Amino acid sequence: MDATSARQRLEKMLADLDRSIGVLQGDPVAVRDRSAADAGSDLSDADRAQAMLTVATAHRRAVLDALKRLDEGSYGRCVDCARPVPEGRLEARPEAARCVQCQGRRERRR
Ligand SMILES: [Zn+2]
Repeated sequence: MDATSARQRLEKMLADLDRSIGVLQGDPVAVRDRSAADAGSDLSDADRAQAMLTVATAHRRAVLDALKRLDEGSYGRCVDCARPVPEGRLEARPEAARCVQCQGRRERRR
């Protein structure tokens, strides 16, 4: 994938994430504080919205990092081992920062 289409896809993802995060943050269920949610019956809705917000925020950060790597010219290389990230992986996840091996190692460490 060339840098231009990678950038286009990342910017599209960023716009979608910004919109989702805005919706989640504006959702009264999502922003209701815990004490109020504990008293109500929709705690699971609040939890789900919060979980989605956490995922979307982390994803947004990954997309921003990928755009930064595009600017720096290091996009497409694993941030851990510096080997090229396989094309198919970038097609599926343009924001991927690591090759499959390094990502797997990182996830096992957690
Ligand atoms: Zn790697």
